[in-house]
Amino acid sequence: MAKTFDAIIIGTGQAGPFLAQRLTGAGMKVAIIERKLFGGTCVNTGCTPTKAMVASAYAAHMVRRAAEYGVINNGPVSVDMKLVKARKDAISGESRTGVESWLRGMTNCTVYQGQGRFESSKEVSVGSERLTADRIFINVGGRAVVPQMPGIEEVPFLTNSSIMDIDFLPRHLIIVGGGYIGLEFAQMYRRFGSEVTIIQRAPHLAKHEDEDVSTAIKDILEQEGVNIRTNATCIGFARRGEEILAHVDCAVGDREVSGSHVLLAAGRRPNTDDLGLTNAGVAVDQRGYIVVDDQLRTSVPGIWALGDCNGKGEFTHTAFNDAEIVGANLLDNDPRKVSDRITAYALYIDPPLGRVGLTEEEVRKSGRPALIGRRPMTKVGRAVEKGETQGFMKILVDAQSHEILGAAILGTGGDEAIHSILDVMYAKAPYTVIQRAMHIHPTVSELIPTMLGELQPL
Ligand SMILES: Cc1cc2nc3c(=O)[nH]c(=O)nc-3n(C[C@H](O)[C@H](O)[C@H](O)COP(=O)(O)OP(=O)(O)OC[C@H]3O[C@@H](n4cnc5c(N)ncnc54)[C@H](O)[C@@H]3O)c2cc1C
Repeated sequence: MAKTFDAIIIGTGQAGPFLAQRLTGAGMKVAIIERKLFGGTCVNTGCTPTKAMVASAYAAHMVRRAAEYGVINNGPVSVDMKLVKARKDAISGESRTGVESWLRGMTNCTVYQGQGRFESSKEVSVGSERLTADRIFINVGGRAVVPQMPGIEEVPFLTNSSIMDIDFLPRHLIIVGGGYIGLEFAQMYRRFGSEVTIIQRAPHLAKHEDEDVSTAIKDILEQEGVNIRTNATCIGFARRGEEILAHVDCAVGDREVSGSHVLLAAGRRPNTDDLGLTNAGVAVDQRGYIVVDDQLRTSVPGIWALGDCNGKGEFTHTAFNDAEIVGANLLDNDPRKVSDRITAYALYIDPPLGRVGLTEEEVRKSGRPALIGRRPMTKVGRAVEKGETQGFMKILVDAQSHEILGAAILGTGGDEAIHSILDVMYAKAPYTVIQRAMHIHPTVSELIPTMLGELQPL
């Protein structure tokens, strides 16, 4: 006999727990299923642990730079990777247990541990248990892709998950992939003391960014001694004794990179292959992402998909926003939709990149008349005072409506300062609102009005 609930949620990532709270708060009886770690990727192998490690790497970097600030530290700088890992584990562990105890203590919520699998469009199994509900929410997230590269199965490799378990310094870390995940690990391990080589198929790092942004990122990493191999084709691996050899055909540089460890950061895939979706009739696209409409309904009435598994976003804030959208539609009679949201994310190298809206290239391609403003961080007082002047900010504005189309702040505090731009974009207000606003001195944000006062035709 199946146990009956008002709603079943599969996965406790960034959408599931918040949605459980909303549904139980509205009086529904909810079952939530987790097969591995409460809190999912972000809490255990994604945002939280990586940002904790980025903070350790920043501390190491600043200790090395101490003399530039007049701080004398005559002893050798060393990084204890066991302590770095312990700090990271404590921060991430607290988040994980927080999610678990929140769910277990939630009135009307029953937690199941195990693999959730559709038996039909209304029935999900977890181990020997059968659960049924009229509403089922899929929040199963994704995992690292293991690219089909010659020799990859013959060498040991790390992913964003398994690298969380190591408590030593790789002598030479070869990172396959120059996207957000690869770049964060590259800088952090370089700062810990590893030799690091990034192998990137595309001509640029962070390939979705404008060329000036990706060039500036490359400069920042190269100045710290990260080796970068772009345009890398025919990537393959072999073992030579203890060493791992990566073969790359690049226009420039050696054909072989010899390292001690390999990290795969070449993309993510959704956890939809072992969910029994065909039993429920839920449609997926060619890459396995669950097909959803603007309000996150799947092809089967009564089943929704939220977070990374629906291909509509790849961030914690997009997954959380998915839960807000579904909750608003189901409980508040508020027809919120995915297309209401504006692209926004950060890349947590140091200095970070904050990005919102369209890129310059996308604006150019759209053919609309536009204005652009640009300012190097060397002309931002706060950055000069902090001794962190790498990067620049730029903003694009519609020449007719005066609405902001997009912006990038690659520089100290860029992940925070970008939000004043994002909020004005949500308000659909003209850029002059920020231009006339009095911002606090000295901050990175205070130069945004100045930059807007110097707009030029694109
Ligand atoms: C290294 C790294 C760094 C990142 N940094 C950032 C960042 O700084 N900022 C940001 O916004 N995003 C970041 N992300 C992305 C972010 O982690 C994800 O976008 C986010 O976690 C997606 O949440 P989700 O709820 O869709 O899925 P997940 O968090 O992946 O959760 C899915 C859950 O479902 C469970 N599950 C899967 N299948 C089943 C099943 N069949 N039965 C039961 N349970 C199941 C899984 O065990 C997991 O707990 C990062 C990702 C990585 C890999």
